[in-house]
Parts: sequence; structure tokens; C-alpha cells
Amino acid sequence: MNLHTHTDFCDGKGSPEDFVKKAISLGFKYLGFSAHAPLPFRCDWSLSAERLDVYCDEISHLKAHYQKKIRILHGFEIDYLEGMGFPCLSEGAVCRADYLICSIHFLKTPQSAMTSPKFAEIDGTYAQFMLALKGHEYSLKKILSNYLSATEQMILTPLAAGMVKIIGHVDKIVLNAQQLPEFEGLSDWFYKELFNILLQHRDHYHSIEINTRALYKKGLSQPYPRYDLLELLAGQRIPLILNSDAHHPSELNAGYKETIERLESLTNVNSKNLNYKWLKK
Ligand SMILES: [Zn+2]
Ligand SMILES: [Zn+2]
Repeated sequence: MNLHTHTDFCDGKGSPEDFVKKAISLGFKYLGFSAHAPLPFRCDWSLSAERLDVYCDEISHLKAHYQKKIRILHGFEIDYLEGMGFPCLSEGAVCRADYLICSIHFLKTPQSAMTSPKFAEIDGTYAQFMLALKGHEYSLKKILSNYLSATEQMILTPLAAGMVKIIGHVDKIVLNAQQLPEFEGLSDWFYKELFNILLQHRDHYHSIEINTRALYKKGLSQPYPRYDLLELLAGQRIPLILNSDAHHPSELNAGYKETIERLESLTNVNSKNLNYKWLKK
């Protein structure tokens, strides 16, 4: 299964139907579509508000058409923006999804006013990250603290009652942050804080995603989040869900084999953590 996929409706390659066919050939029981929901500013990797209805119609059509072969779920990946919450929730179509993956791709530049916030991308290229860092006076500690506080606010920001809330690639800022030598001295502090936030607010989300894109696309040796954090979360019985963040049908199970092997070697992670009971409802 995989609930984190991007097709040519946003920044992926391939039609939703190409993804469905590939998922069936892989023997998946479930496939979820999670287009980047529209943002309140120009962004070349998100779905535009004008195409929301076409996207929803396409997924509903595939859901019905392939129902005997695979269970298709209709989701979105939605951005948390500090000071604005989840702006895409103003779109009715987003609120009717089967589940939402909540992620941070942007941080508010500290100097910008809450009334007219400016955002900088933190998970794009290193150059984009450096621009975000510049807005934090080149202080890695400052940008990591801001990321942690945005993560906490995101978790505490409610969705509509009963909506399934999955936290996407929860330590993604590390992709760029670890390229700076100062990260080594901050890493233990960062992960301790992150774990505390996830533990303290566990009632405010459904599950934490294990995202393998770091492994097969970004050249990292661990998924998002790192195995030691996964071990701690699993030890607290926090539900985890395995996704690949596929941007092409060929990536639907990318990184799964090595991640599953590694998860099996951890003491706390077992089938109880990878708990998909809610899907059966
Ligand atoms: Zn994302
Ligand atoms: Zn994604």
C-alpha cells in the first residue's frame, strides 16, 4: 500500500490511472492519491484551485472503476503555513477527502508581519534553503527551532472532526540542515524536542509517516524520520504508516524492501505500529 503519491495533477509524472495499474501489478490492497492541495500563493508544484474538481472527479471515477481490484483512497498533502494554519481547508473539496497528509514545506520568515507573512521553502534545493536560513540570520538553531514550533502548531491545528490526519515527512528539514557542519552539534537536541512534541500531542494526529523518498531519491541512508526516532515512537505505540511519496508509478514501492528489513531489526516496531485498521472502515 501507499497513501503518498503525486501524479501529473501536481508535480508527479504519470496519470492517476497509470499509478492504479502499477499498484495492482504490485499486489497493493490500497492506493491513496495525495496531490499537493492549492496554496494561497503561486507555486509550480501544487494543484491549482481551478483543477480541484477535475482531480476529485478523476479519483472518484478510478475508485469506482477499480473497486474490485484495489481500494483507492482520495487524499491530499496539505501545507501548514504559520499564521495561516491550513489555508486549503477553505476549499470544500479538500475537506471531503478520505485522509490528509499534513506537511511543512515552507517556514515564515521571522521578520515578516503576521498580517502579510512571507514564506521561504525549506525542503527545496540547498540554495532555497540558504535563502530561508538567511531570513533566520544564518542561525541553524533558529531555523530548526522555528521548524519545531511550526510542527507543534501544525499538529495542534485541528482538521474537521473525524478526518484522518497523517503527519508527513516529519524531520524533512534535516535533508538540507545536515549539510551544514553545525548540524552535528544540534542533532540530539533537535530529535529530542521533536520526539517530545510528537509524544505530547499524540491525540492530535492519527499516524506518523515513514517516508522512503529520502532513500531512493535524496541519497540519504535513512527514511524520514530517522530510525532512532521511529524506534522511540514505536516504543510509545504511536501508529506509523509506510509511504514512498511516489512521483512516478515506478516509485510506488521504492525503498520499501530495505526499510521494512531495517524496521524488522528494531525492537519496538512491529505490526501493531504499522496499524491500518482505519482503512478497513
Ligand atoms: Zn511533502
Ligand atoms: Zn509529497
